[in-house]
Amino acid sequence: MEADRNRLLRLVEALPQPCLTVLPVVDDDGTLVDVVVEDLNAAACRLLGGEHDALVGRRVSEMRPGLAPELLTTCREALLSGMHHERHGVLDPDSDGDLLLDVWAVPLGDALALVLDDVTRETRVVRALEDLQHSYRLLADHSSDVVFEGGAGPSIDWISPSVRDLLGWAPEEVVGRSVADLVLPEDRPLIERAREELALGLSVQYQARFLRRDGSTVWLAADVRPVYDDSGAVVGRSGSWRDVSAEHAAAELLRFRDLHDPLTGLNNRTWLQDSLAELLREARGARTSVAVLFVDLDNFKVVNDSLGHAAGDFLLQEMASRLRSALRAQDRLARYGGDEFVVLVPGVRDPGEAEGVASRLLAEAARPVVVHGHQVMLGASIGVAVSNQRSTPQALMRDSDAALSRAKESGRGRIAYFDRSMHKQAMQRLTTEDELRSALAGDELVVHYQPIVEHASREVVGHEALVRWSHPDRGLVPPLDFLPIAETTGLIVEIDRFVLHSVCRALADRRPELAGHVSVNVAPRHLQETGWRRAIEETVAAYSVPTSRIVVEVTETGILPLLESLQPDFALLRAEGFGIHVDDFGTGYSSISLLRDLPINGLKLDGSFTRRLGDPDGKAAVLAAGLAALASSLGIQSIAEGVETEDDAAILLAQGWTHAQGWLFGRPQPLPDATHAR
Ligand code: C2E
Ligand code: MG
Ligand code: MG
Repeated sequence: MEADRNRLLRLVEALPQPCLTVLPVVDDDGTLVDVVVEDLNAAACRLLGGEHDALVGRRVSEMRPGLAPELLTTCREALLSGMHHERHGVLDPDSDGDLLLDVWAVPLGDALALVLDDVTRETRVVRALEDLQHSYRLLADHSSDVVFEGGAGPSIDWISPSVRDLLGWAPEEVVGRSVADLVLPEDRPLIERAREELALGLSVQYQARFLRRDGSTVWLAADVRPVYDDSGAVVGRSGSWRDVSAEHAAAELLRFRDLHDPLTGLNNRTWLQDSLAELLREARGARTSVAVLFVDLDNFKVVNDSLGHAAGDFLLQEMASRLRSALRAQDRLARYGGDEFVVLVPGVRDPGEAEGVASRLLAEAARPVVVHGHQVMLGASIGVAVSNQRSTPQALMRDSDAALSRAKESGRGRIAYFDRSMHKQAMQRLTTEDELRSALAGDELVVHYQPIVEHASREVVGHEALVRWSHPDRGLVPPLDFLPIAETTGLIVEIDRFVLHSVCRALADRRPELAGHVSVNVAPRHLQETGWRRAIEETVAAYSVPTSRIVVEVTETGILPLLESLQPDFALLRAEGFGIHVDDFGTGYSSISLLRDLPINGLKLDGSFTRRLGDPDGKAAVLAAGLAALASSLGIQSIAEGVETEDDAAILLAQGWTHAQGWLFGRPQPLPDATHAR
């Protein structure tokens, strides 16, 4: 018995709830006015704030005046009617703030047992949860997203009122229906799949077209999660729907943009490829052909560079609408890029049909355009390839492109058809490119030097470095056979650098054959490379070659598009002592201002003028004379190229060309020692 009592006391002592036995204090009327502590556990000591022995025998109202009135009411009730329980909110100055106490009072003979439970924390959490639930409901009620719940079956059990805004249905019209009923028939499989995944306990997201009450559709993004019971079984689902119509509209716009050229509004290259593939499929079935017309505007670059990009944009728009107007309903038109357009002509039974379309396009392109007050004549060149039963889109595009190159080469404003020999050429091009790369890596490129003379004295004042390809099978390949390919692939930059290195090495070795300066050619493509100037400076400095011994030759077609950006580079090079000569002068569209505004110190007359000096119409001779006078008035050197005969030399000398270069004075030659030819 004693053991039981002790065990019980130990248990009470260890309880986290304050427990105490108290003796009632009554006034003369027998009313309970206070209680005196008889015994108490550790938790009660903590609550009352003192040691066990110090607390025993004291009145509660003395120790906790804030707590006493509440305790006493409970005690009074218990004395009247047995065990009593009350929850008291206590304004307790001794603790952090309000206390929430559950108080149990039980009469024990002439004493009372009190058990107090501080439920402040739990109550706060419950209240916070209640608040949260309330806000959540508010959110569901007022958010534009729709929130819904359902059981294991397909039907919706509860849905937020915002479904009315989103779909036009009242919540009660939707409850009981299945989601699949609310979407377009095409999207139902999506809902079925979602249901299967939910049943497996997976969360699902999908986007589907929902039907509004008024019959219109709206894209909704659904995010649905499974709901589990205590045993972990899926018993339902809850989820939300969000209106994503705006996102879909934006995506639609992007798709449109993906397939259209923003400047002209025409379809673009991506569309073209798909469209051509589709037409080819149709043509195979119908046993007809598709003609691909690759259209490239002539002179566009020059106009764009001289009149500015706004004018260029206008021209492209104008040309796009003209080309469109020249086509028939079944023909398709796309802007391929830059000033290139592609027309697809379906249902071709006879190549003559494509020719008709192509000539109409040429005629449209050739009419003058007025842009920014200038009358401009552009014109176009067209390459045509016609499909056969085995044609692929890629092959047709490549073939029409090859035909276009042919059209351009044969003079502008032409139509050229693709044929087998062009195919061979195109393949050759590819092999050349590969071989050229290994030529650069190996030792197959060599530099030849051609003398440049002072005209009157015929004294050699310098040389031009000209690259050659010493091909193992083809022998010495002239630059015009491989430089155009190198230019399109960008290999030209490395070739030019290789030549400059060879030249600098030869100059550093003080080769007696190389008196005076050496001119090196810098390709148009090379000038577009950032850092081209610095690379030249560094190479020359690395070999300690005086800058005055190097002349940079740039073609006028190379500098024209970069006019403004080149100005500071040229000025620096000149200031450092390099020479700069404009090569092939007279072949491009350069203006006199180009010579005046750029800090160049020499002008080279293109060899084609020299060849035509004796032409009966005398035009070339007049032009050449004019250019010599121009150079002299600008105080720069004038070098006539391609001088083969004494007659030519005499005429050019009389015209005032200060220098000359040509077979008459010396052919391009390697340096005697092969190691320096490389
Ligand atoms: P270019 O710079 O105008 O070089 C002059 C061309 O005229 C050279 O042709 C030269 O061999 C040729 N030539 C010289 N005298 C006569 C003559 O009396 N009669 C005839 N019919 N031709 C003569 P080449 O060597 O075939 O070079 C052709 C072009 O290739 C060069 O024209 C130049 O633009 C380019 N080129 C050559 N080497 C390089 C190079 O290392 N880098 C770059 N970017 N271009 C180069
Ligand atoms: Mg040159
Ligand atoms: Mg030249």
